[in-house]
Amino acid sequence: MSRPSLTLYTATDSDHIAHAELIDLLKSIKLIGKPIATSRFLAGSRFFSHIAFLGCAPNIALDPEQGPQHIRITVPALPKPELFSGSRAPAPLCPACKQAIEHWKHHIGATKNGAISCPQCNVSTLVNHLNLRKRACFSKHIICIAPVFESEAVPADGLIGTLNETFNTRFAYAFIG
Ligand SMILES: [Zn+2]
Repeated sequence: MSRPSLTLYTATDSDHIAHAELIDLLKSIKLIGKPIATSRFLAGSRFFSHIAFLGCAPNIALDPEQGPQHIRITVPALPKPELFSGSRAPAPLCPACKQAIEHWKHHIGATKNGAISCPQCNVSTLVNHLNLRKRACFSKHIICIAPVFESEAVPADGLIGTLNETFNTRFAYAFIG
């Protein structure tokens, strides 16, 4: 994932969500449009209703004819939760002892039960309970919208609400890249 992205992700257990159902919903609300590769789509016709770009109206290309930097939306089918993070993601703090968790990417990558043990105090914490400061996420279901630079855009409340209600889960977002 080399290009910076706005990534929506399920922040709670989401094994019950079928990848195909997530794709169907995103198509029906027209966040995603035409498929361009496996699990990758052009922006749909209501993209700007669901994603709010901030600041001075930037010139966001949605159509490939507008240039190679057009928006692509990737919704991978993952067998289990994975860590997505950029190089600038800071080490999260252990909720128990407030120390930075060293080698956190390794610990999260190796977790079998969605929890990691703090190397300092040995208290186990669910990865989704760590504050990753919107620079990383650990999830089985992600919606990766790129290129979007950090804090350039946020998902509209309506989009998060629709996802949460449809799938009875809690979506959040981060800037990965
Ligand atoms: Zn600790």
